[in-house]
Amino acid sequence: STTTDFTLAIEGLTVSFDGFKAVDDLNLYIDKNELHVVIGPNGAGKTTVLDLICGKTKATSGSIKFLNVELTKKPEHEIVRAGVGRKFQTPSIYENLTVLENLEVSYPEGRGIFGSLLFKRTPKVMEKIHEIANEIMLDDALDMPAGLLSHGQKQWLEIGMLLIQDPQLLMLDEPVAGMSVKEREQTAVLLNKISQGRSVLVIEHDMEFVERIAHKVTVLHQGKILAAGDMHKVQHDPKVVEVYLGH
Ligand code: ADP
Repeated sequence: STTTDFTLAIEGLTVSFDGFKAVDDLNLYIDKNELHVVIGPNGAGKTTVLDLICGKTKATSGSIKFLNVELTKKPEHEIVRAGVGRKFQTPSIYENLTVLENLEVSYPEGRGIFGSLLFKRTPKVMEKIHEIANEIMLDDALDMPAGLLSHGQKQWLEIGMLLIQDPQLLMLDEPVAGMSVKEREQTAVLLNKISQGRSVLVIEHDMEFVERIAHKVTVLHQGKILAAGDMHKVQHDPKVVEVYLGH
């Protein structure tokens, strides 16, 4: 097997559900410091690609190399431990815990909500928590119950709960859905910051937002890549225009 400089190198990835190829011979490469957005109409296979990367769905064939480690045969928890973080659309925060406690239980040695009972607030842990709280714009809300945060702030907290585990690849499914204009703008800044030193893979429908954040765009259609490259190039690709406007 070959080694690459890419954080993520997907080659020939295919998954069939009862003979239907939801993802069909996909090649996708993501660099460190790259914010890569996958777009495409409903049913294109975007969610399935993320499911395949995080091990929720098993590939029929092909390869997913993350930091040169093959992921396709690994169970989900090992993929998380290898440094892949995934945020779903619905936040999975603990509404009754404070922002600080939510970050604490997500710390690798926090080991979830029960492990946290034995958790020590060491200076090293607290420094990391404050650094992330600052990054996700919640440093003034550390003692607030998470349930009282705004919709946007809950999304940011969940991003913080992933960041505290130091992922090298962060995957986000429609990160600005339901957010206010101001929160969208703040999320764009946040995602740009997060992509520094890491790789970020986003599924997004809002084209204005894609244009705002994407370093590279991949357009999926019927499980295959229709176009890929920078947003400007992709936007004007006749095949893409056809899929988005042609019917
Ligand atoms: P997108 O996220 O781009 O809207 P999906 O990845 O959710 O698309 O779905 C791609 C296609 O694969 C759809 O036709 C969907 O119905 C199908 N699909 C996804 N997951 C499964 C599954 N577990 N079993 C059968 N079909 C599936």
